[in-house]
Amino acid sequence: MRAFIPSYELMTPHALDEALALLANEPDIWKPFAGGTDLMVLLEAGKLPHTNYINIWKLDELRGIEVTDDRVSLGALTTYTEVQNNAILKKEFPMLCQAASETGGLAIQNRGTLGGNIVNASPAADSPPALLAYDAELELVSINGSRRVPYRDFHTGYKQMNIRCDELLHRIHLPRTNAKLYHSYRKVGTRKAQAISKVCFAAVAQLDNNRIEEVRIALGSVAPVPLRCRDTEKALPGRSIDRSTISAARTALATEITPIDDIRSTKDYRLQVSLNLLEDFLESCLVEVKA
Ligand SMILES: Cc1cc2nc3c(=O)[nH]c(=O)nc-3n(C[C@H](O)[C@H](O)[C@H](O)COP(=O)(O)OP(=O)(O)OC[C@H]3O[C@@H](n4cnc5c(N)ncnc54)[C@H](O)[C@@H]3O)c2cc1C
Repeated sequence: MRAFIPSYELMTPHALDEALALLANEPDIWKPFAGGTDLMVLLEAGKLPHTNYINIWKLDELRGIEVTDDRVSLGALTTYTEVQNNAILKKEFPMLCQAASETGGLAIQNRGTLGGNIVNASPAADSPPALLAYDAELELVSINGSRRVPYRDFHTGYKQMNIRCDELLHRIHLPRTNAKLYHSYRKVGTRKAQAISKVCFAAVAQLDNNRIEEVRIALGSVAPVPLRCRDTEKALPGRSIDRSTISAARTALATEITPIDDIRSTKDYRLQVSLNLLEDFLESCLVEVKA
């Protein structure tokens, strides 16, 4: 049942300082409202718990994709459409563009934001695995200044995060590199579009011939948080890609993830698919190296 609209309040500040002052002066009362694509679903279902929202959509300080020599920085309000249309992101961070193109439909891609996807903190969300594999860093802002948190340390438990109630997610920073990288992003759902992930996989590797120099692996829907698989990553550098390496990688990943049965899938299916996607990724690196 739809919520009773008059019991909600929405403020629209026109400058970041104004929004931050509101968050600081009345702690835990005001919550950010960005594209609203997660919040409106709760409102329509009569399950939106907080009543006071700050509409941050008009804050230019939270917009824009900026490129420097060593990083690409995206405002928290960057939409999926903006991600897909950016030439540098397409070239250097293709998994993020693919995640954006597989998120919802066009209306959601025009309105939903990366910041909202991150702070909504669903373990099944589609951009977090790509952001984790690219080693993103988050910049949070409050009336007292800014701080940065490696994204891998941001999600601390189911729907729990390293963000205070007086803070906004300001920007998402992606480190650039000149090294050749091998990327693999796979969203596995019931349908090709408009489906919530059963498993979402993102990995990036740097190779010297067929020897793994560095690898970063992240998965969604296999743990209470979007998971950077550090133990599996540690098992791989220095090894050539062969059957024994693939087997070691599968064993490490099986220990590291904790999938569950739920309405969308089963624990066993998620485990098998995750291991197969990792194997596919390593095999595809080998094929590309030999090409
Ligand atoms: C039909 C439909 C299909 C969808 N498909 C997908 C899909 O395929 N994959 C997927 O991952 N998601 C999907 N979603 C979920 C949703 O669209 C995304 O999570 C989206 O990125 C949320 O962004 P938003 O700006 O709309 O967030 P909002 O709804 O505005 O906010 C979400 C949460 O983030 C907080 N928040 C937002 N911005 C900030 C900020 N800058 N700082 C601090 N807190 C902030 C809000 O307070 C709120 O708690 C879908 C939703 C719908 C309705």
